[in-house]
Amino acid sequence: MIEFLLTTDTRKVLHVDIDAFYAQVEMRDNPALRQQPLIISRDPAETGGRGVVTTANYVARQLGVHSAMRSAEARRLAPNGIFITPNFEKYKAISKQIHDIFRRVTPKIEPVAFDEAYLDISDAQQTGAMLAAQLRHEIYRQTRLTSSVGVSHNKLLAKLGSEFNKPNGVTVITPENMLAFLDKLPIRAFRGVGEKTYEKMLALDIHDGATLRAVPRETLVAQFGKMGEHLYWQARGVHFGEVKWQRQQQSVGKEETFAVFLHHDAAVHAEFKKLAIGMITALKKRQLVGRTLNIKIRDDTFHTTTRAITQAAPWELSEERIVNAAQTIFDEVVTAPYAIRLLGLSMSNLQSSGFEEMTLF
Ligand SMILES: [Mg+2]
Repeated sequence: MIEFLLTTDTRKVLHVDIDAFYAQVEMRDNPALRQQPLIISRDPAETGGRGVVTTANYVARQLGVHSAMRSAEARRLAPNGIFITPNFEKYKAISKQIHDIFRRVTPKIEPVAFDEAYLDISDAQQTGAMLAAQLRHEIYRQTRLTSSVGVSHNKLLAKLGSEFNKPNGVTVITPENMLAFLDKLPIRAFRGVGEKTYEKMLALDIHDGATLRAVPRETLVAQFGKMGEHLYWQARGVHFGEVKWQRQQQSVGKEETFAVFLHHDAAVHAEFKKLAIGMITALKKRQLVGRTLNIKIRDDTFHTTTRAITQAAPWELSEERIVNAAQTIFDEVVTAPYAIRLLGLSMSNLQSSGFEEMTLF
């Protein structure tokens, strides 16, 4: 049963995570902070000890500081630490930049946080490792921030992978190396193993993936309930959760209704040109291309014709080519004399324009 599951999962999933995001942004903007323990939180001295740590840099982490820790505790661990109040407006703007980069790879994005997302790249031609490298390069080029990426065939393994090689690393987990990877993974790294579960695991002599995998399913369920069941499957790298993405708009384009009907070829041509420019601009802005060009024509009697031209490869975003295609359809379906009340152009069968096309824009 398990062998079957392992070899038939042909999905490709990335988990991308910016390293210590808020802290890295602040160090980028003030490099003098790099050598010091940096804690992104209001200074507990100013808040009467209240508040929690949002992020800490790796220098502070070495001292035991971690996110979600009380700021007062962080101060105790890092007495010389520098506290910076989080600037969410700034992080949000950078987050948008990063998500725009994700969208160039695939529309199938599940955002997890400002700086973290799952990408389903099952449709991509390139390997996951290649896309991970391109993504990391592009994120660094645009934001000067390093990220870590996990590449695998499901979300669980992609996430474990990005955490494994942090900061600034890539981990590729294949069906072949998956069990070797999981077996060596400390039990604390598995999903859902909090402080209490961890203590209990150690008491049962379960301290990594290998010892977890050796425990029968019934035992895990008896000891940990539903979490035990999850852990049983985690130890085997099995996870069926889909990347939950919001399906994008199905088409991009526009139609135009004319108060004064069009009677002449020159006027029709000029309107197709305007519509094509508008559509191309909108597609470029969203970093999309499409395989199907849709043309809509309505005359003064409300007779409406729609035509779709679907190509094997996405349409080149050339105004001339698109206007010519629209004009050809128009000449086929409309005979003079005519009175046109509406024209429309739109692109559907959309896909991300991807890294290849980037230089064309
Ligand atoms: Mg992060």
